[in-house]
Amino acid sequence: MSTLATQAELTLNDWKERAANATFKTQAFIDGEYRQALSGQTFDCINPATGQCLTRVASCQSEDVDAAVASARQAFESGEWSRRAPTERKKILLKFAQLVREHREELALLETLDMGKPISDSLNVDIPLSADCIAWFGETVDKSYDEIAPTGSDALALITREPMGVVAAVIPWNFPLLMAAWKIGPALATGNSLILKPAEQSPLTALRIAELAMEAGLPKGVLNVVPGFGETAGQALGMHMDVDCVAFTGSAEVGKLFLQYSGKSNMKRVSLECGGKSPHIVLADCHDIDQAAQAAASGIYYNQGEVCNAGSRLLVQESIKDELVERVMHWGKKLMPGDPLDPSTQMGAMVDKTQMERVLGYIDIGKSEGAHLRMGGNRVLGESGGYFIEPTLFDQVNNDMKIAQEEIFGPVLSTLTFKDLEEAIRLGNQTCFGLAAAVWTRDITVAHKTARALRAGTVWVNCFDHGSIAVPFGGYKQSGIGRDKSLHALEKYTELKTTWVNLGS
Ligand code: NAD
Repeated sequence: MSTLATQAELTLNDWKERAANATFKTQAFIDGEYRQALSGQTFDCINPATGQCLTRVASCQSEDVDAAVASARQAFESGEWSRRAPTERKKILLKFAQLVREHREELALLETLDMGKPISDSLNVDIPLSADCIAWFGETVDKSYDEIAPTGSDALALITREPMGVVAAVIPWNFPLLMAAWKIGPALATGNSLILKPAEQSPLTALRIAELAMEAGLPKGVLNVVPGFGETAGQALGMHMDVDCVAFTGSAEVGKLFLQYSGKSNMKRVSLECGGKSPHIVLADCHDIDQAAQAAASGIYYNQGEVCNAGSRLLVQESIKDELVERVMHWGKKLMPGDPLDPSTQMGAMVDKTQMERVLGYIDIGKSEGAHLRMGGNRVLGESGGYFIEPTLFDQVNNDMKIAQEEIFGPVLSTLTFKDLEEAIRLGNQTCFGLAAAVWTRDITVAHKTARALRAGTVWVNCFDHGSIAVPFGGYKQSGIGRDKSLHALEKYTELKTTWVNLGS
């Protein structure tokens, strides 16, 4: 498969042909090799664009998790990776990132077939950003220095960071490879061994990159992948007495379970990247209403609305509400779902039938709560067998309604109005989440005041969903604990050690 072909060169028919001939890694990856689950159990891996089974994947249980943890522990204690010079770890991670880039088309196809996102997004966003993330963290480790404390001349106090040991990464299905990379990069760069549990809806790219990591030179046992369900493989990792740290991305509900697992087992470190109900605030002095509308539309409809920081609550000042809503609908209608394998498609399928029904259920709730359905609201392309929902917009939403408070995780926007900035901030913060927020205004003082007042890990000013691997990402309140991306992510995967050397008599 050519790695140099670009999206423009590959047509829908090319992708369909590749899909028809695609091969899948379906076994767990433990101790450097692919293995069936010890129980022999498997689960169906469904293509959400057709409803058809792509393949069957090993369903790991606690005994498979035990094997993965034993291998990760053995690898960690051997020091082959954990004590290797940072420069050497860097070289392997850079090679790993390069291999991900070289297999971009293959991985993009797996991602799209597995979770239904448009091929152009998999190809141009998910896979390149995953490779960049692994490379970025590889690059940091031989440029990071430890500290010496200012204790005085009769002592030397060193403050050093050491790897946690065995890390479990439990991840969701909305950006399968990218969420894995956000954990793999910093966890491996700092010398840990890792066990990755992909979501049961989307295990294929995680399973494939395990062997790319080995090809890059990662010692066996340093990266293990255990596909399976949350209640079995996920819980077994959370409760394991020999896992030192869990890095979780997923729903707040399951995030709270991981805190319980930790308390019931070995007090393992737990970091959480959970959901959101991000307010997208547009003030009447916004410099360009059409630009704000376009950002609001892509801020909720990108990735089928299956985005943790989706701007799912549009808060707009009363005087510009009608104009803004019209413009958002104009942009939203351009994002009608299509075949995810078509390079021109901008919205794909919901990840599975359960998620589609969940989102449709919220649309019914919105109608029964008295919100005004202005656009969408239906399943479409049903003849494909896939799980597609059209971009949906509710107007006249009250912040107490369920559709304003609960994370829908689909292409459903709730529009609320406010009179003044004070009310905008109050409504913006009136949520149990605090992942992200945005404000549009041409007044720099108002912009800064609003950014300070909003209780969210990220606040965008006059844009939405901009980011860089160099900036932290994570949430306040029930959106999580800890940060992914940036040098701050390294804190999650390292313990701080003080070594006090007596230089006195
Ligand atoms: P989820 O919480 O259902 O599942 C996430 C992972 O946890 C999966 O691997 C799943 O198998 C596992 N799991 C489920 N139940 C479990 C249990 N009882 N014990 C142990 N593990 C269990 O979330 P999802 O539906 O896969 O993903 C959507 C959620 O992820 C949304 O809430 C979204 O906001 C969140 N998310 C957050 C971020 C972020 O960076 N903050 C990024 C992406 C997604």
